[in-house]
Amino acid sequence: LEPKEEFQHSSLTADVMRPRRSDPPLAVLTQEGMTVEEVEALVESTHYSGFPVVVSQDSHRLVGFVLRRDLLISIDNARKRQEGVVGASQVVFTEHSPAPADDAPPPLRLRGIVDLSPFTVTDHTPMDITVDIFRKLGLRQCLVTHNGKLLGIITKKDILKHMANDCQQRPRLHPLQL
Ligand code: ATP
Repeated sequence: LEPKEEFQHSSLTADVMRPRRSDPPLAVLTQEGMTVEEVEALVESTHYSGFPVVVSQDSHRLVGFVLRRDLLISIDNARKRQEGVVGASQVVFTEHSPAPADDAPPPLRLRGIVDLSPFTVTDHTPMDITVDIFRKLGLRQCLVTHNGKLLGIITKKDILKHMANDCQQRPRLHPLQL
């Protein structure tokens, strides 16, 4: 995202973010209630670099963002080294959680790998502002919200693809005409 790259500034973040209408839903983790097996299945069934953590599937209130590689390393380490952690263990991204039932395996606490302040923009943010935020902060991805609820994600590559399409569709204007 070189500063001198030209970009037609008419679109909104909602036009560029994922998922699109035809895409599978946003892959999210809930802060409590998923098992190690369920988290592993989610990670392995996708290739995404990261996953938003939400309070619940219903609320989609954002808690933070976890990188795929941190999740995989932490789960792998815990399965090898942390006594009692098995596929049925609960994965907990909260600070405090109710004590597990007597017969339940110990939970896997992963609060430490959550970025609790991921960058967010709203779906109505004009793309030129979103691009500026990516450039100035050197972001790889940014989460998209609507009325405080998590709606989607936008990556640097999504923006570059959008810019490439934009350039193909419209003749390039002289910079002074922008
Ligand atoms: P690449 O992996 O090729 O470098 P990328 O840099 O865009 O691509 P990824 O995280 O792999 O990064 O995202 C691939 C695509 O999936 C992007 O279009 C992105 O918006 C979307 N995406 C990323 N994370 C999620 C997610 N958790 N749920 C749904 N879609 C996602």
